[in-house]
Amino acid sequence: MSFDFDLFVIGGGSGGVRAARIAAGYGAKVAITESDRYGGTCVIRGCVPKKLFVYASRFKDEFEDARGFGWTTGEATFDWATLIANKDREIHRIEQVYEGGIKAKGGLTLHMRAKLDGPGAVKLADGTRITARTILIATGGRPSRYGDIPGAAHIITSNEVFELKALPRRIAVCGGGYIAVEFASIFAGLGVETTLIHRRDKVLRGFDEDLRDGCMEALRARGVRLVMDEALAGVDEDVAGFRVTLRSGAEIETDLVLSAIGREPATGDLGLETAGVKTGSRGEIIVDSYSQTTAPGIYAVGDVTDRVNLTPVALREGQAFADTVFGNKPTQFDHTLIPSAVFTTPELATVGLSEESARAFGHELDIYKSRFRPLRNIVSGRDERMLMKLVVDAASGRVLGCHLLGPDAAEIVQMAAIALQLGARKVDFDATVALHPTAAEEIVTMRDKWVPA
Ligand code: FAD
Repeated sequence: MSFDFDLFVIGGGSGGVRAARIAAGYGAKVAITESDRYGGTCVIRGCVPKKLFVYASRFKDEFEDARGFGWTTGEATFDWATLIANKDREIHRIEQVYEGGIKAKGGLTLHMRAKLDGPGAVKLADGTRITARTILIATGGRPSRYGDIPGAAHIITSNEVFELKALPRRIAVCGGGYIAVEFASIFAGLGVETTLIHRRDKVLRGFDEDLRDGCMEALRARGVRLVMDEALAGVDEDVAGFRVTLRSGAEIETDLVLSAIGREPATGDLGLETAGVKTGSRGEIIVDSYSQTTAPGIYAVGDVTDRVNLTPVALREGQAFADTVFGNKPTQFDHTLIPSAVFTTPELATVGLSEESARAFGHELDIYKSRFRPLRNIVSGRDERMLMKLVVDAASGRVLGCHLLGPDAAEIVQMAAIALQLGARKVDFDATVALHPTAAEEIVTMRDKWVPA
């Protein structure tokens, strides 16, 4: 049987673009379609614009801290429109790079919605039917929305927040995951009166408890009002903005309500049933360790499979798929030891097991913990401490987890992830010579086991 293409990819985000480019590089005849903008969530409305906002939110600290080092600064003002314009320019550049990379390898890039149309075929939004020997679904995820409360239409999500015309004076952020706390931190840093509303008693479920506590403490110290164990009951428009009513009956006046209560796989209207592609309870596409779906010749990578929803994971799954199917190198991506960060200010980052999950897996542990004020904070007068924690298997001495809260935590943990990947033991950390004077040196100089008070 002959096909129009060797590979047809639905979705031009991190996973789809990587897979299309690598497969085309192996000589496959490839087409990819994107219904919105190449780059997907990460580039257009996720990691990249968010990190630019994070940078913007941190300058206030820089100006304040500079005084301790002898600088006199004039009155600093912030212009939202400049940030948005510069962010848009950079995103446009990356978008071109993403699409251009596929074209450069000979792939065809389309700009249209697509869905499956039986085994080995897709239907484009303009009605064209295309056949392909292999189909890859990489349609990502979308923010979950409040559907069932009065005034839900007033609530925006991370999809809209990057396009706001003006910086609000007050914001209420709903959620307790990394996206919610990052936006709370960003807006607080930009001088917005910020309230974080979360239905549990702590943010960042799944992270090490010390980091969760440290993150909440840092948010509070930076003026974020934390409203825990609460949920939205409704949102009303009033003359001055919006009135948010909580389940307890309490009310919050705000100018903007941002919901970051979770994300769900984008599997609606994909024609999955026409080809026998099965989904799980959250709508995620079920795949095996080679990202093969329940239908022959159809694969899925990235957030649509709801494994670990991060850009580097979507990239590696896309790469592994292309290597396996078109590069004659069967590759299973290993989903353990994935480093991750939360770009609050201060940020936190982590790789490996939290203390709680290591205990749950039955490890006897040695814990090394250090809380200290970085040199820079001492001189600037900033009363903020850094937290470093190593979770070590007592029997083998192997470092199972590394958790940091403080400036540059993400940069440090990226390096620590190499050590954990190599199976480093605590003695290997100890044998590593410190690089002085840095905050990161603490990670190789912690000698005393932490003893609970
Ligand atoms: P996506 O990037 O979502 O791409 C899917 C693409 O498919 C989209 O462009 C969509 O338009 C397109 N599409 C959907 N349906 C169709 C269709 N039927 N036809 C054609 N095209 C279709 N991850 C990190 O690693 N670090 C971070 O700091 C980070 N920050 C984030 C911040 C925010 C606010 C958000 C929302 C996410 C963040 N993420 C971060 C997660 C990261 O963005 C995702 O894990 C990653 O983008 C997943 O890539 P993907 O290829 O699976 O899907």
